[in-house]
Amino acid sequence: HLQDTVTLNNGVKMPWLGLGVYKAQEGDEVVRAVKSAIQVGYRSIDTAAAYHNEEGVGQAIAEAIQENGLSREDIFVTTKVWNTMQGYETTLEAFETSLSKLNLDYIDLYLIHWPVGGKYKDTWRALEKVYKEGKVRAIGVSNFNIHHLEDLLTDAEVVPAVNQVEFHPQLFQKELLEYNHDKGIQLEAWSPLGQGKLIEDESLKAIAAKYGKTPAQIILRWDLQVGVITIPKSVNEHRIAQNADIFDFQLDGEDMAAIEALNQNKRFGSDPDNFIF
Ligand code: NAD
Repeated sequence: HLQDTVTLNNGVKMPWLGLGVYKAQEGDEVVRAVKSAIQVGYRSIDTAAAYHNEEGVGQAIAEAIQENGLSREDIFVTTKVWNTMQGYETTLEAFETSLSKLNLDYIDLYLIHWPVGGKYKDTWRALEKVYKEGKVRAIGVSNFNIHHLEDLLTDAEVVPAVNQVEFHPQLFQKELLEYNHDKGIQLEAWSPLGQGKLIEDESLKAIAAKYGKTPAQIILRWDLQVGVITIPKSVNEHRIAQNADIFDFQLDGEDMAAIEALNQNKRFGSDPDNFIF
């Protein structure tokens, strides 16, 4: 079911599927996308301070709650602290700015966007503070490799609930997936469709034909079956609806293995170990 959730390590429930809004333009474009997603049943939205669309996301959520007879608690909102604001005090400030732009009184999931060397531990202490104050229901990280997590966990009081990383059939991060699973950290896939480039893959097209689904739906279904939260991005209402129609079929073992075999350790986005902060 579209509103199925996974229980995070602190008991908070997070939907398996959410709408990503990177590059959705502030204003009309993001407002429409978020509203149409909620209309078709999405209950999770992934934004970030760096996307410069938190105001539109907040406006859309407020309007959608009104128009669909929902309450704030029905929607799961993720945002992230950007690299230039990392550090203890600056992160506390960035958090308040996001809250106010989103026009919310709490955030569901707050993430460290990238593991900025020498800073992410201070940033994490700030996340632990807002978490303890009840201003955010869960805290986590993004783009953390195993060594970043090992390092963070030596000092962390709170174990991250989520690690959001680039993850798709050409970048099946098996070792990272298993490590996160062992630590009770839920993996979440960004660029699940490889920025849309993977839908042209011939083997995915063949599998899609077999199930009467699209390649995008096959990839997103695969995410769920490997236990990874997924947040495809689209601002097109038909694609938004299509990407959510993945709860009425199951990929068989052979197809799961065939998709896994597409791995090339290929990144479309930045590599956390070679990121210029
Ligand atoms: P994606 O893999 O979700 O691909 C999105 C693109 O695929 C769309 O722009 C559209 O062109 C195409 N598309 C979407 N649905 C389609 C469909 N059904 N059929 C055909 N084409 C379709 O790429 P993304 O936007 O990079 O990633 C998704 C979300 O992940 C982002 O919006 C953002 O919320 C998050 N993200 C996070 C980070 C991070 O560092 N934490 C980095 C990148 C993205």
